[in-house]
Amino acid sequence: MASLLIHNAAQIATSIGRYRRGAEMNQLRLLRNASIYVQDGIIRAIGSASDVEKAISDSPEVIDASGSAVIAGLVDSHTHLVFAGTREQEFAMRVAGATYQDIAKQGGGILSTVKATRNATKEELKCVAKRYLALALEHGTTTMEIKTGYGLDEETELKLLDVIAELDAEQPITLAPTFLGAHAVPPERSKAEYLESLFALLPRAAQKARFIDAFVEENYFSAEEAEALCERAKRFGLLPRLHVHQFTANAGVKMGLRVGAASLDHLEKISDEDIGLLARSETVATLLPCVSLFLGYGYPPARKLIDSGAIVAIASNFNPGSAMTLNMQLTMFVASAQMRLSLAESLTAATLNAAYSLRLSDKIGSIEVGKEADLVILDVPSYEQAIYFFGVNHAKTVIKKGVVEWTR
Ligand SMILES: [Zn+2]
Repeated sequence: MASLLIHNAAQIATSIGRYRRGAEMNQLRLLRNASIYVQDGIIRAIGSASDVEKAISDSPEVIDASGSAVIAGLVDSHTHLVFAGTREQEFAMRVAGATYQDIAKQGGGILSTVKATRNATKEELKCVAKRYLALALEHGTTTMEIKTGYGLDEETELKLLDVIAELDAEQPITLAPTFLGAHAVPPERSKAEYLESLFALLPRAAQKARFIDAFVEENYFSAEEAEALCERAKRFGLLPRLHVHQFTANAGVKMGLRVGAASLDHLEKISDEDIGLLARSETVATLLPCVSLFLGYGYPPARKLIDSGAIVAIASNFNPGSAMTLNMQLTMFVASAQMRLSLAESLTAATLNAAYSLRLSDKIGSIEVGKEADLVILDVPSYEQAIYFFGVNHAKTVIKKGVVEWTR
């Protein structure tokens, strides 16, 4: 039996339970000078060094964590990680004054990545994605959701789902696949035709994906169109998680709650009425602060959501057009510095609540006996310092299911 002792950490900082909503998000379990014992990938004991030693029945590999804080592996619950090409030219245009919508009108935006992604082979896509995943792992991410949506035709969308499945088997980060065929309408088809093809694709997509997503936005998909797609997708076992209220207030939140979405994401333009509805639900509000930073537009009303009792998660939204970052430590910093989440709330949002939105929080997302040992040992003595000291990587050792997958 493989076992591991993380010995005498300066701090162990974690949320506990299945999810934390509202004021509970600020309540962490904090231990000082404590150890974690892991056997067969599962956390078996947590506590003072002497208490944990009593639980040890074998000769574990020992990691000296003195001077370090330990947090749960970070969970990035909203990414578009599999794509070809990058779009730094658009970023330069935006810096010079163009808007996201201006760039889309000039043939940039999602469709330029679609073109590059269609032209890439499966092996090429995997090769690029593996590099991104290795970077994410080094920054402490141990679980990640990945959406399709840069294929926008049957063949490429299925190819992207295959790429995600193969990557899941070939590298340490657990991947949760989401079918986002309804990311945009491809230029060669009418919207009605394309929606019909998505409906027809659902049975096959459902064999490879766990979630269904749609971009509910002006000039993309209406709430009615997304609702029909979600209802159909649910019959094949896909759970909705949706892009809503990013650029315009729309009916996305009410619709998302009707279809029982696991998560409603973006919410920059959510109304007070919809905040109240979302806060009383079991649907996670997933906020993407690095998008607001990157695009230079307003942040979602995170404080109002938490103060109203919502279950809030944060994610990178890694994608080439509006958030070219894989760094969940930076995401926590931006959430705290710009959206005014307390540091504890940012940690909860980036771990347990994100895991809950992926329906994985029974196994991961916190440091608790019985959960899988997904852990990040930091090069600083507190999680607070790791968030506050921003822009550099504080992960020192990243452990996935009890195995050291990266260390420096
Ligand atoms: Zn997105």
